[in-house]
Amino acid sequence: MTGKRCRGLDVSGTKTYPGDPVELPLRQDQLEPTPVEGCLGCTELANVRDRARAGGDMTTVTDCNVYMRRHPEGHQ
Ligand SMILES: [Zn+2]
Repeated sequence: MTGKRCRGLDVSGTKTYPGDPVELPLRQDQLEPTPVEGCLGCTELANVRDRARAGGDMTTVTDCNVYMRRHPEGHQ
């Protein structure tokens, strides 16, 4: 009778569905801007971001994303 045990676990937590996009950090990561071709600023930011991510420095990664997001305004 292991079915009862499993059921208890399900009810104790909040409702979860497979593939439910609730993980905000991951979502943010997916939304990060892409460097504009030909823009030295974007290229540099992308390089710094890659290196920061490789080193686990998520603060710098976020900073680079913020700066890169502002860039499109300057490109137009
Ligand atoms: Zn740029």
